[in-house]
Amino acid sequence: MSHPRLYIPGPTEVNDDVLAAQTKPMIGHRGDEFPKRFYSLIDRLKQILLTEQHVYITASSGSGLQETAVRNAIRPGRKVLNMVTGSFGDRWQQVSVANGKESVRVDLPWGQPVRPEDVDQHLAAGGFDAITIVHNETSTGTMSDVGAIAALVRERYPDVLLLVDAVSSASGVRIPFDEWGLDMLLTASQKAFALPPGLGFTAVSERLLTRAATVPHRGWYFDLLLLEKYAGGGRTTPATPAISLLNAADLQFDRILAEGLEARWARHETCMEMTHAWAEQYGFELFPAPGYESRTVTCVSNNLDIDVPAMIAHAKRHNMIIGNGYGKLKNKAFRIAHMGELTPANMEELFEILDEYLS
Ligand SMILES: *Cc1c(COP(=O)(O)O)cnc(C)c1O
Repeated sequence: MSHPRLYIPGPTEVNDDVLAAQTKPMIGHRGDEFPKRFYSLIDRLKQILLTEQHVYITASSGSGLQETAVRNAIRPGRKVLNMVTGSFGDRWQQVSVANGKESVRVDLPWGQPVRPEDVDQHLAAGGFDAITIVHNETSTGTMSDVGAIAALVRERYPDVLLLVDAVSSASGVRIPFDEWGLDMLLTASQKAFALPPGLGFTAVSERLLTRAATVPHRGWYFDLLLLEKYAGGGRTTPATPAISLLNAADLQFDRILAEGLEARWARHETCMEMTHAWAEQYGFELFPAPGYESRTVTCVSNNLDIDVPAMIAHAKRHNMIIGNGYGKLKNKAFRIAHMGELTPANMEELFEILDEYLS
């Protein structure tokens, strides 16, 4: 094996041809060639994100799009409801406050999903312009039922915008943006999309663009109306795009669509089931509340009290990288990602090595 294979929840393995696509010569983003390439990217991104509304590509990681979401969706004097069930929900609340937005933070126990009834209870107070939810909380391997939350919000709080972080799930799990009536779904290149880090991908509703027009101080770099002005119809970007990364995305979007979205989601689910079966055969428990396990990363509780760093080191000696528990879960849990390019055969190879350590 030529390089350590990543079974961590980002960055993930990138196909060799996709890596190589980054070495293509530069072109100007104000020339004739760029809009053709960019339009084609936008067109395929809409297919992958299951939307016929707006999509944008930013030169940023996922956190830049969290910033975009709060800056564009929340008016002065109105509030944002930040549901926190792990470290990325926590980040979203910090981003909200750092951008001067009035935040109501709701902390739920780590490993629990966000449930519609929690959302209902807090939105009932009124005064909210938006709610932030992490679809797949990577720190705890827990996935919330965003479809059920969206159904509630659309019915009972039609003016509250639904801002969804799907950084570690989009393209690996079906998230029907238009069907559920979401307002912003944000993701990044380096997780289930299996691209190098550095690109943000987002789907945006017409409703959010309408709202943004009423929000002052949206900033410049992440102003959705400016992005729309340039990208509308897939022409170009306000600032210089990350051209080499877009070349990689050009090939990877084709690869994703050639595999087929249904097949891609099914492969992620199969790898998840294999990981659950592997863990449970030893008597390990899964960290998330039953029924809410992530389909892209499994967080295994260390209820058997094994030496987690030693197991990680053993895997590393065999060129395989798995993750420790995140933050306060360090050594109390460990994480095996099964997202992006990883196949059932790759999972078998990992389990053989981990079996060696555990036996
Ligand atoms: C990785 C991750 C982020 C942060 O993304 P960056 O690309 O590192 O900025 C946000 N949310 C979730 C759920 C993530 O997994």
